Amino acid sequence: MSPIGTAAGRSPIAAGERVLVTGGAGFIGSHLCECLLAQGCEVLALDNLSSGHTQNLAPLLSHPRFRFMRADVCASPPPQAEGVQRIFNLACPASPAQYQRMPVQTVLTSALGVWQMLELAQRSGARLLQASTSEVYGDALQHPQREEDWGHVNPLGPRACYDEGKRCAEAMLLAYARQYGTTVRIARLFNTYGPRLQPGDGRVVSNFIRQALQGEDLTLYGDGHQTRSFCYVDDTVRGLWLLMESGHEGPVNLGNPVECSMRELAERVLAITGSRSRLVHRPLPQDDPRRRRPDIARAAQWLGWRPEIGLDEGLARTVAEFRARAGALRSPSGPT
Ligand code: UDP
Repeated sequence: MSPIGTAAGRSPIAAGERVLVTGGAGFIGSHLCECLLAQGCEVLALDNLSSGHTQNLAPLLSHPRFRFMRADVCASPPPQAEGVQRIFNLACPASPAQYQRMPVQTVLTSALGVWQMLELAQRSGARLLQASTSEVYGDALQHPQREEDWGHVNPLGPRACYDEGKRCAEAMLLAYARQYGTTVRIARLFNTYGPRLQPGDGRVVSNFIRQALQGEDLTLYGDGHQTRSFCYVDDTVRGLWLLMESGHEGPVNLGNPVECSMRELAERVLAITGSRSRLVHRPLPQDDPRRRRPDIARAAQWLGWRPEIGLDEGLARTVAEFRARAGALRSPSGPT
């Protein structure tokens, strides 16, 4: 990946600066580590592997400026993390199916994990970026979602462990900024997708692609008219970097404002894969947001950021990587 300039056209992180990425073995985290190494940073990736996979980091493990540490973000950080200059806090299960299977760990990761990272940022004089989420808007009353929107979250429902956990994290970041002057950044991510999504993670893009490639029915929850706005991972990672290096605390929405219904997504996946799978309806999960689309005026104005990869191109790249991974698993020598 080529170096990324800031809105002003320069990259303020000096080559060799030490950057911690929690959730570094996860889907977005592994792409971020790759980008940071390309910028010349020394990268420490921390992950407890509850939803991340070291396989995501396979190409980086031998890199001289990369180090992986298996540790839980809720525990005291390993000594190697002391003195870092930047912290990207991405650790948290993000698929509804996964986080609802481990709601206690999910809420603790957001509350305790963020607290640990804020304390580390204080001790180290580091800047901390929190990966927050469009879920803070819940089943939004305003459309599209703007950062000023306070959200419409069910605090007692099955998604609350994630939604309220992330809202608590945002509140804690701003509490530290106000009380102790900690330098923080808040990014609200909208449905990131791309290569290295886990085929079994239960998210809609992973499910549809896996089902289409295996000739299974595509499972459309509810009537399929609910919408999401899918952002390709390279665009998300570029936005995270730009926000970290900007002079803005946020929150900033990072998402692709092109809205798509789940039925339309299923049809696009069928077209791109050439699959003859059928669509079958399954019950809509409780509290499933009906519509989701980011207003990205802030990201455009503050960061000069907008997504560059359209849905069809992003899906085609993702499908190609799913196919390659399946092929590698089938080959007699196994994954490479
Ligand atoms: N969904 C679906 N089929 C699936 C998985 C998900 O129709 O196999 C729907 C889900 O009900 C939601 C949307 O796709 O409306 C996005 O779900 P996902 O779990 O990917 O993320 P969310 O945006 O809900 O966190």
